[in-house]
Amino acid sequence: MFHALPRSSLPPWDDTLFEVVLAAAVNGVMAIDDRGRISVFSGACESMFQYRHEEVLGHGAAMLLAAPFREEYEATRRLFQKTGEAKNAGTGRELQGRRKDGSEFPIFLTISDGPHSNRQMLLVVVQDLTDLNHDRAIHAEQRAFLAAIVDSANDAILSKTLDGKITSWNRAAETLFGYSTAEIIGAPITRLFPEDRIGEEADIMNRIRAGVATEHYETVRLRKDGKPIDVSVTVSPIRDSAGTVIGASKTVRDITERKLAEARLQTLSAELFQVARVTEMGLVSAAIAHELNQPLTAILNYTNVAKHLIASPDPAAKTKASEAVDKAREQAQRAGQIIQRLRNFVEKRDSTRTLEDINAVTEDALPLGLTGARAIKTTLALAPNLQPVLIDKVQIQQVLVNLLRNAVDAMAQSQQRELTVATAPVNGAWVQVSVTDTGCGVSLELAERLFRPFVTTKAGGMGIGLAISRSIIEAHGGRLSLVPNPSGGTVFQFTLPATKCMVD
Ligand code: ADP
Repeated sequence: MFHALPRSSLPPWDDTLFEVVLAAAVNGVMAIDDRGRISVFSGACESMFQYRHEEVLGHGAAMLLAAPFREEYEATRRLFQKTGEAKNAGTGRELQGRRKDGSEFPIFLTISDGPHSNRQMLLVVVQDLTDLNHDRAIHAEQRAFLAAIVDSANDAILSKTLDGKITSWNRAAETLFGYSTAEIIGAPITRLFPEDRIGEEADIMNRIRAGVATEHYETVRLRKDGKPIDVSVTVSPIRDSAGTVIGASKTVRDITERKLAEARLQTLSAELFQVARVTEMGLVSAAIAHELNQPLTAILNYTNVAKHLIASPDPAAKTKASEAVDKAREQAQRAGQIIQRLRNFVEKRDSTRTLEDINAVTEDALPLGLTGARAIKTTLALAPNLQPVLIDKVQIQQVLVNLLRNAVDAMAQSQQRELTVATAPVNGAWVQVSVTDTGCGVSLELAERLFRPFVTTKAGGMGIGLAISRSIIEAHGGRLSLVPNPSGGTVFQFTLPATKCMVD
């Protein structure tokens, strides 16, 4: 819609005027005559100023401006119409418009010649800046918000041009590097590089030029005081509105603390490793001492006996001495085997496993475990036709000896001393061995810790037998557990996987 005085009262403008006006229809268009009166008032002007055209036609356009701008407008208009000169004429000026209801709003006003440089009839174009200003305000707000984020960030954030000049520098950068914004802006980024790292800049910038970011790159940078700092750097390209890379933004994180923590952790784990080695060595030596104690004691006994017998005038004594020496030799061999097995076990080598009848293995272990035990009623309850087990015989015997000796020890103060060693099949897949005693029993608290190394209640105990026994049984795929004996005392039982075939 284009509102104007009746055509007859219009100066003889050609159609170009209408084209111009129509093209500018989103903006308000007014024509001002030589006496400053509005002679054309476009539809856009009507909605902008909320006047109908008939209310303004013939009036001065100053009525459409906020009071402070009226005089200036009039002066400009007069000067322009007289001399063709005006400050901002043709390019326009930002000022406040005034609506019919008195409300004011920002406008951009352009005064120009009428058609054919007709200065007597001026063309005034009015652009409503309300939305633009709103956008600008939002923009400014967003910028302020982003700036606040950048400024309050913990990481140093800076930007640089493609030729490596620093263009922005946040507060964290000031703290991290020690340079104030004023002294670093415009400086080359390489000022932050130790000499041996300067080559990195070219690599990073080559990637940036290709539009590729460099992320979490760990390196070293220099503080103003020359102190090197461990940092993690992320560099991303900055593009202009056309998408061309014009610079780079850099986020620099101080990782000194993390590096220190890593170093501390490394030292700590090295120390821990050392401790573990020492502990393991302690464990191994304790285990060796524990396991060898029994055959060594036996050897000592046998050799003592042999010594006495040799000194005896009795002719039969010689044979007995020879037997004792044989037994001592057997024990020595056994000690050797124990050492070998322990070494294999510690080195986690596969031990020598053979198919064995668990009943036979148990029977063999009995005298070893009961050496020196007195007044103990021993019952063997061996289940017939058990499936064989694939075991390291010496190791399983060690377990049995441990359990038997513990049972004997536990019954030392007991009135009733009954030991039952039993074997039984379990679910067709396992063979179980149990050692039941009527000894002192195990408290709940102790039961929880019993299988840990160095847990002992005995004066001369090492607390290692059960720990080793459990390891041996588990290495065989079985379980060693403790079951309270309801009639007092304890039951230790272990299972071993049964194999399919039967032993003759
Ligand atoms: P050690 O015999 O050197 O103490 P073990 O690991 O063989 O080491 O046993 C740990 C502890 O478990 C023993 O000191 C004892 O207190 C307890 N214990 C083991 N077997 C029995 C048992 N049959 N009855 C009661 N307590 C037992």
